[in-house]
Amino acid sequence: MAGSDTNASWLARSHAAVWHPCTQMKLHETLPLVPIASGEGAWLVDFDGRRYLDAVSSWWVNLFGHRHPRLDAAIRAQLDSLAHVMLAGFTHRPVVELSERLAALAPAGLGHAFYASDGASATEIALKMSFHSWHNRGRAEKRSFVSLAGSYHGETVGALAVTDVALFRDVYAPLLHANATVPTPDPRRGVSVEAAAAALDAHLDRHAATTAALIVEPLVQGASGMTMYDARYLALARAITARHGVHLIADEIMTGFGRTGTMFAWEQAGAPAPDFLCLSKGITGGYLPLSCVLASDDVYAAFYADEVAQGFLHSHSYTGNALACAAALAVLDLFRDEDVIVRNRGLAAAWRASLAPLAAHPRVRDFRQCGMIVAWEVDGARRDFARWFFAEALAAGLLLRPIGNTVYVMPPYVVTATEMAMLGERVAAILDRAP
Ligand SMILES: *Cc1c(COP(=O)(O)O)cnc(C)c1O
Repeated sequence: MAGSDTNASWLARSHAAVWHPCTQMKLHETLPLVPIASGEGAWLVDFDGRRYLDAVSSWWVNLFGHRHPRLDAAIRAQLDSLAHVMLAGFTHRPVVELSERLAALAPAGLGHAFYASDGASATEIALKMSFHSWHNRGRAEKRSFVSLAGSYHGETVGALAVTDVALFRDVYAPLLHANATVPTPDPRRGVSVEAAAAALDAHLDRHAATTAALIVEPLVQGASGMTMYDARYLALARAITARHGVHLIADEIMTGFGRTGTMFAWEQAGAPAPDFLCLSKGITGGYLPLSCVLASDDVYAAFYADEVAQGFLHSHSYTGNALACAAALAVLDLFRDEDVIVRNRGLAAAWRASLAPLAAHPRVRDFRQCGMIVAWEVDGARRDFARWFFAEALAAGLLLRPIGNTVYVMPPYVVTATEMAMLGERVAAILDRAP
C-alpha cells in the first residue's frame, strides 16, 4: 500500500503514525480519516477525487478560500527575502507593518502587538500580562480570572483554567488554577443581558481585589456551541470592569477578521477598548500559524522600566514569523482592496435567504446568525448525533462538525448563495432521516 496515492493508503498510514488532535483515535477504526490532497477556493479534494465544501473554514481559520492567488503570491514573495528571524533583539519589515496596521484597525489605544503562533498562546500571554502588570504596580494579590459560563479560550494549562467546557477540562482540573465563571447572557436559557451584567458586578463587588481580569469571547462563544449574545453586554462588562479596576481581555481569536460582520466583534459594543485583544485563526487567512495580543498603553507602561525582571519575559521560538506576518499583511490588503466587510454584509443576507427553507425544518430549533456564522440546534438528536451527522454530511460532500446537537456553518467568505442553498438542501435531507 505504502506509496500508492489513495485515500485508503494515506488514512492507514496516518492512523498508524499521526496522533490526531481532539480525537479518540480508536473511533477511527470505524469512522475513517479523510486524507486531503488539495484545496481550491471553498472546496477540499481527497485522494480519490471526492470534493467537500469546507463549511467550517478548516476549524474557523480560512477566510478567502484555499490556494488564494494573492495569499499564495505574498508568501512566495516573502520567501525571496526572509522566512524567519528571532524577534528578541531583531525586527523585520512584515512584523512592523503588521503591528502598525493591526493597531490602526483595532479599537483605539491598543498599540502594542505581542506575537505567538496559536490562539491558546495568545490567551496565555494576555493572562500573564494582566497578572504581571498588576504585580508590577504592587497589586500581586490580583491573580485570579473570571470567564463566562461556556467559555472557550484554548487548551493549554493556563487557557484551560478559563475554559468552561467539561469534556476538555474536567480531567485536568487538578492541574488548573481556580478561577470563577459568571453567567453568559443567553436568551435560550432565560439569562438577560442585564441579569448577566448584574452577576458580573456582584462577583466583582466581592472579588475585585483579587481579580486580575475578565476574559470574554465577544458576541459569539464558539467551541461550547455557538452561543450568540447581544453587544450591549460587552459595553456593560467594560463599564463594570473599569469601575472595579479589573482588566478586560477580548478573545477575538475566532470572532476577529470579519466573522461577526465587523472587522472585530468589539466594534459592535460601541464601548471603550478592552485592555487586551487576542487575535489568531483568520489572521493569516488560514495559511500559517500566527497569533497576536494587542495590549493597551497603560498595560505596556507597567512593564517599561530599567529593571529587566519588570519586563514581559515571555517568548516563543517562532514569535513574529516573517512568512506568517506576510500572509497576514496580504489578508489585510484583501480586506481593504475588496471592501470585504461591506461585501460580507450582502453575502450574509444572501446566505440567510438561501438557508430559509432549512431554518423552517421541523428538527431545527434556535436558528441564529451573527455575521458569517449560522447555527441551530437539532431537536430530539440522539447521543452520538454529532458523529453520525459528520459522517452523513461528508458522504454528501460537506465538511460540517456539529458540537453536540448544535450544527453550525462558518464557511470562507467566498461561498456563494448558490453553494449555500445546495448546503441547505443537503442538510435538510440529512435531518429528514436523522434518528
Ligand atoms: C480556537 C480558539 C482558541 C484557541 O486557539 P488555538 O489556536 O486552537 O490554540 C482560543 N479562543 C477562542 C475563542 C478560540 O475560538
